[in-house]
Amino acid sequence: TVSIRDLHLSYGKLEVIKGVSLDIRRGEVVCIIGPSGSGKSTLIRCINGLTPFQSGSITVGDQQVGDAKLDKIRLRRKVGIVFQQYNLFPHKTALQNVMMAPLKVLKEPRAEVERRARELLAKVRLAGKEDSFPGELSGGQQQRVAIARSLAMRPEIMLFDEVTAALDPETVQEVLLTIRELAEDGMTCVLVTHEMAFAREVADHVYFTDGGKIVEHGPPEEIFGSPQDERTQRFLSRLL
Ligand code: ATP
Ligand code: MG
Repeated sequence: TVSIRDLHLSYGKLEVIKGVSLDIRRGEVVCIIGPSGSGKSTLIRCINGLTPFQSGSITVGDQQVGDAKLDKIRLRRKVGIVFQQYNLFPHKTALQNVMMAPLKVLKEPRAEVERRARELLAKVRLAGKEDSFPGELSGGQQQRVAIARSLAMRPEIMLFDEVTAALDPETVQEVLLTIRELAEDGMTCVLVTHEMAFAREVADHVYFTDGGKIVEHGPPEEIFGSPQDERTQRFLSRLL
């Protein structure tokens, strides 16, 4: 589904991605781990065209992300992204937040959009909170509204950038459960996360990045059980 080849990206003189290649197959859960500043966020933002890159290629389905003629709207419908900062509209209810994009961007009929938004809120275990405003919800609940909002665009791939990093420990688990259920439903998921136990359980494949490169990758048993590279070993030992 996604194929990244020899990706290079610099911010001015700062080289941030130095030749990254990776593949994400349909239905797969891929986790990207690595130290702060290693380029994880930059990498996943490239996948849905949020951050331009200088060379290499990214193919998402039938689309070339680096292509000047890229249909960005179509790409962003296909690839949903959820950030640490959920950025809900504070003066709109949970339901309205989820309904907005399908109404405005997809121009789907309101009754159908509302039916589906209620269904999605129930799916992320927020039935009963439809009429709550973001300020009336916990961080974990707001993050699940953000996930539902992203799902409302019917993406084929979901990117999650440290979506639990800003949450209280108690609410982290409910968000991870939502992601796990999505993955079990067959959604293709790319997760940048510091939740190593979670990555170990749900990932099909784990990439360890450092200094803008993929240092090591493989199934979670290998990366967490017997990391080969000294940098991976050091990173993981600091977390345990
Ligand atoms: P973290 O774990 O802290 O989120 P990360 O692996 O996601 O880190 P990135 O956010 O991708 O790292 O940043 C990689 C490097 O690029 C860092 O050195 C960062 O300072 C730099 N950087 C990120 N965004 C920009 C930008 N918009 N302009 C200039 N430099 C940037
Ligand atoms: Mg980041």
